[in-house]
Amino acid sequence: MDSFAYRDGELFVESVPVRAIAEQAGTPCYIYSRATLEDHFDRLRAAFAPIDPLICYSVKSCGNLGVLRVLRERGAGMDVVSGGELFRARAAGVEASRCVYAGVGKTDTEIAYAIREGIGLFNCESEEEFENIARIARSLGASVGVALRINPDVDPKTHRYTSTGKKETKFGVDLERARRFFAAYGRDAHARLEGLHLHIGSPIYTVDPYREALEKTVALVADLARDGFEIRSIDLGGGFGADYESAQSPALAKYAEAIVPLAKPLYDRGIRFVLEPGRTIVANAGILVVKCLYTKTSGEKRFVICDAGMNALLRPSHYGSFHFIWPVAPGRDMTPARRALDPGLSGTVTHDIVGPLCETGDFLALDRLLPASVARGDLLAVFTAGAYGMSMASRYNSSPLPAEVLVSGSTAEVVRARESYATLVEHELKPSPLSLGAAESAGAAR
Ligand SMILES: *Cc1c(COP(=O)(O)O)cnc(C)c1O
Repeated sequence: MDSFAYRDGELFVESVPVRAIAEQAGTPCYIYSRATLEDHFDRLRAAFAPIDPLICYSVKSCGNLGVLRVLRERGAGMDVVSGGELFRARAAGVEASRCVYAGVGKTDTEIAYAIREGIGLFNCESEEEFENIARIARSLGASVGVALRINPDVDPKTHRYTSTGKKETKFGVDLERARRFFAAYGRDAHARLEGLHLHIGSPIYTVDPYREALEKTVALVADLARDGFEIRSIDLGGGFGADYESAQSPALAKYAEAIVPLAKPLYDRGIRFVLEPGRTIVANAGILVVKCLYTKTSGEKRFVICDAGMNALLRPSHYGSFHFIWPVAPGRDMTPARRALDPGLSGTVTHDIVGPLCETGDFLALDRLLPASVARGDLLAVFTAGAYGMSMASRYNSSPLPAEVLVSGSTAEVVRARESYATLVEHELKPSPLSLGAAESAGAAR
C-alpha cells in the first residue's frame, strides 16, 4: 500500500495535502503515515505467521514516540541498542519484557537500568560483556535472559558501514567461539544464556545471506544440544530492504519464503523466534519535506538550495544513498509517472539538490532531474525518508531539529515540535563547576 500519492498534481499523505501540513508545521519536517506503518507491520506478521515471531521494531530506525505507539498498538515489541532507546520504548508504553537489547558497548548504567526495567533479553556481544551483565544481575539479585549474538561470517552485499555479519566487523562472537562461550557461561544463574541472536546488515536485498546465516545457526543449535545446552529463542535481526527507487512498499514475502522453511522445524520443537525490522516498516512510511530557498546556476550546474540537507537527512552524503525527490505541487502535467529517475520526462532539468550548511558534502541528491519550473518557495518531498532520517539528524550549523508529523486518515498531529533556538543552548546556559577535590588543591598549592 502506498499512502503517499499525487492527486490533481498535488502530493497527499493519506487524505491530507502535504502543503497544508507544511504551512502549519513549517519546514523542514518529517511526515509519517499511520496506515503505511500498520500495513507494513501487518504484512510482515502475515508473511511470517507460520513461525509466529515476536516482532521487535528497531527503535534506532525511527524512534519518535508517535511511531512507536502506532506499532505498540499493533502488537510490536522493540529492539533497542541503548538505554536511551529503552527509555523511548517505555515512554511509548511498551513493556520492557517485550524488548530486546543489542549493542557492543552497553555501559554498566545501561545494563542496570535494563535489568531493573525487566528487559526481555540482552543480546550479548562479547565474553567481557557477558561477565559484566552476570555481575550486575547478581548484585541486583536478578536473573536475566541473555542471547548470544553470533557472527555467522556471511556477506550481506550491502554498504560496508552497515554490513555487520562478517568476521572482521565488531559485532557478535564468531561461530567457533560460540560453543566455548556456552561451555564457559551456559550455567550462570543470574545471566541465563538461552538464545542466539544474529543481525547481518542492512539493507539486504537478496535472501541468500539470510538462508546461509540461518543454516549455520541451525547447525550451531544442534552442536549446542550435543554439548547439553538447549536454545529457547532465535532472533534473526533486521535488515529487510525498502524500495528506495520506486518508493513503494517493500517485497516482504520473499524473505519469509526463504526463512520460514528453515525456521519452522525449530519452531515446532518449541524455539521462539524474534525479528527486528526497522527500515522495511518505516522507510516508505515517511517523507521529509523541505523548501527551496533559492535556485542558482554555476557554470553548467543548476542548484536547488533547500532549507535542510545533511543535518536533516544524512543518508545521501553518508552512505551515497538514493532518495527520490519531487515537488509537492509540481502541477498537473508534472506528476511523476514512476518514482525513479526518468530521463524521458519532458520539461525536466538536471539539478544538484543541496542544503544550507557550510559543507560541500551537504546534499540530498546530485545530478537529479526536477521540473525546470522549480523555483524559490516551492516545497520538495524527499521520499522513503522514514528510516534513519530523523534518527540520524543533527544540529550541525546550529540547525534546530525538524518537526515530525503523524498523519492518520484525514487528521494530522505534530508528534515532535520543531526545536527552537532556546533549546539549542539550554544545556549551556549555566556552567556548573566540577568538584575536583585533591586535583584542585594540588593545583592551588603550585
Ligand atoms: C539496526 C538494527 C536492526 C534494524 O535494521 P533494519 O535494517 O532497520 O531492519 C535490527 N537489529 C539490530 C541489532 C540492529 O542494530
